[in-house]
Formats: sequence, C-alpha cells, structure tokens
Amino acid sequence: MRRYLLTLLFLSAAFGVNAQLKPRPDAFPPKSENLDTKAVTMAATVEEMADWDRYPTYDTYLEMMRRWTTAYPTLCHVDTIGVSVQGRLILSMYIEPPTDADLYRPEFFYSSTIHGDEVTGYVMMLHLIDTLLTSYGTDAGLTSLMDRTRISINPIANPDGTYRRGNQTIQGAQRYNADGIDLNRNFPNPFASTKAGVPQENQAMMDYFAAHQFRLSANLHGGAEVMNYPWDSFTSSQNPHPAADWWREVCQRFVDTARVYSDSHFRDVTSNGYIAGGDWYVITGGRQDYMNHTYNCLELTMEISTQKTLGSDRLPEYWHFLAPSLINYIGEIHSLPNNAGLRPAKTGSIDIHPNPTTDQVTVIGLPEGSHIELYDAYGRLVFKTREQTLYTGNLPSGLYLLRTAMGTAKMIKR
Ligand SMILES: [Zn+2]
Repeated sequence: MRRYLLTLLFLSAAFGVNAQLKPRPDAFPPKSENLDTKAVTMAATVEEMADWDRYPTYDTYLEMMRRWTTAYPTLCHVDTIGVSVQGRLILSMYIEPPTDADLYRPEFFYSSTIHGDEVTGYVMMLHLIDTLLTSYGTDAGLTSLMDRTRISINPIANPDGTYRRGNQTIQGAQRYNADGIDLNRNFPNPFASTKAGVPQENQAMMDYFAAHQFRLSANLHGGAEVMNYPWDSFTSSQNPHPAADWWREVCQRFVDTARVYSDSHFRDVTSNGYIAGGDWYVITGGRQDYMNHTYNCLELTMEISTQKTLGSDRLPEYWHFLAPSLINYIGEIHSLPNNAGLRPAKTGSIDIHPNPTTDQVTVIGLPEGSHIELYDAYGRLVFKTREQTLYTGNLPSGLYLLRTAMGTAKMIKR
C-alpha cells in the first residue's frame, strides 16, 4: 500500500509543474539488493586507508576511531550514540579542543549512511575527521573553526545495513536496518500523531539529540547529487520553511564551492543543485524535518553522489570537490538566521519554577540529561549544566535567559 501511494505521489511530481525533476532515488529503493555496486576495495587495516580510496571493514572503522582518540586525546573523544539491532556500534567523533571555558561554542552535527548502501558519505566523514584533527594547530582557518564550534561527526548511522554481508565487506549493503526498516522514514513525524515504535537506531539518535543542543546538522545520502533543504513533509508552496531564504543561500554556497573543483556535479536533479525536499518529493518520517521541528536544529539532507555505492577508486575524486564545501558548511553555524526560531509557538514551552527566583529554580518539561544554558541580560553565557535544578543564590539580581533544546524561558533573579 505504501509503495502504491508513493508511486502516485511520484507520478504527480513527475508530471506536475516542475517537469525537469527526476524521481527522488530515496523514494525508490531497488527491489533487489543494491544494483549500483561498483568495484569496491576494502581496507582490512587502518594503514590501507592511507590513500582514502577504499572502504573500511567494520573493524578497521572501529580501529580508526580508537586511534584518533589515542592520538588526539585533548581534542576529541568518541560518543557512543547507541548500538544497532545486530549490536554494531553507532559512534560519533566529538571534536572540542580545550579553550576558554566561558566561550560559547554552538554544537554542529554531521551524520552519514542512515541508508546503509549510500556509503560515499561514510568515507567522506572519516576523511573529514582526519583532516580536522591533523589540522588543529597548523591550519589557522580550521583551528579557528574548531575553537569556535563543537563538532560531532557520526560516520555511519546504519552499520547493519552497510555490513549486511558481514564485517569484512560492504558488497551487498542494503538501505534498511537489520529489521528491514527504512530509518529515514521512521523518525516521529512532528506534523502528525507519532507512529508507534521507533527503530532502535533512531531511538539512540533521538536520545543523543536530546542530550545535546545541535544548532546545525546534515544527513549525508547518495543516489543523487543535490542539496535537499527542509521541509520534506510539504512542498514549499504548502508550507515554506521559516529559514528558506537562508537555506537557499547556504545551498548555493555549497554547490558553487563544489563546482569550483569539479563543474560537472550537482546537476542531476536541478540545474542549481539544490531544492526544497518536498518540491522534489514529499516524504514523512525523515530525520531532517524531525530535527528542524523538534530540536530547532537546522538540518539539511545532502545527496552527495549519484552512485549509492560509489566505486572505491572514485572516493578521492569526491573528496576533492566536496571537502571545501563540507568544511564551509560547518562554519555556516556562525551565520544562522536571527533566532533560527523554527518553532516560535513552542519557545518557552519549558517552564521554570519559581519565577522570579531567589536561591534555586527547577526546569520543568525537559528530557532528562538535556543541556541547559543560562545567559545574562547581555547574552553572555553564565553557566551550562545538565542538572534540572539550578542554584541561583550567587547570581546578581536581574533578567536571565534559560536556553534549552526544547525552548527558552526568561528568568527573573531577585
Ligand atoms: Zn538515502
């Protein structure tokens, strides 16, 4: 039934106003296993990843993550977001150099390969981690970016799909998780009643989001080359994203920069290389809309290679034209539109008590473990905490702002 409905939607999209659009690959999982698979060479050791022209075995991937944390213990650590259905690790490299503790650093999140056979981004993310860590202290621009930004990079969100045939190969990778579920169609739909049962991998991801305050993120896919900005759940004429103008500028910068290095890319869906997701194809349950709506985090879906499973010898070529754009996109977190306020109606949906306060205040309505940041009236960060009871006795009296992933609240200190 679901496939039938999708087909109808596709027909209306294909023959609607925008006839230049091609069917969205994400909407058409191949009926058999991945047919796009090209020559794939695996790296069974970290050393074999040296030229970035192979895909890592699962154990090589884990060893790469371990070695980076050993080599750069003050720059990074690995977050375990969760485990997959088959018990593989869903990891993120969290890069946060030590710096002035009072400096407010917004949190950025990259994530790839939620569709297990869309693996180009997997290697791009590993290469990005390596580039950032080896550049700290030597490349002024990247050092500054890391000093101003907390960066979390999850190279593979659906390891069971990628390593479906076992940990030694990505041949035979599949889109779905081990339970046959499309993870990027099964986040809670923020615009409708929530589906029962969130897949294990997504629940882990949601817990990770709740414990952080990501302001900008991207989810990397393959099967097309286009920047797909929110919303996915609506066409832009039905319901434009509040930051749509900003999104178009950001997408344009991404594509323009990539085309400096290789002019032939990001042309298969639209000539300008970007599109509002729903104008390409309406889907629900994607992570992008969930992040934008529920966490007030501007998330973009990046479709970065026409081949889902890119031949491994082409990985360096893709890195060459994508790397500057991928790095610049992190920096876009410092150009967020004023009050990226995507959920104005929900701002203040947290409650604090008592307010005004004297000695302590309790935050109500926030998932346990969430970050809370307290700002003074001048916008300076006073402190951050994961405790839901804040001790305010030593604060000067005045107006403060409590900022959380679920909204903000004004607090008066007497
Ligand atoms: Zn995909």
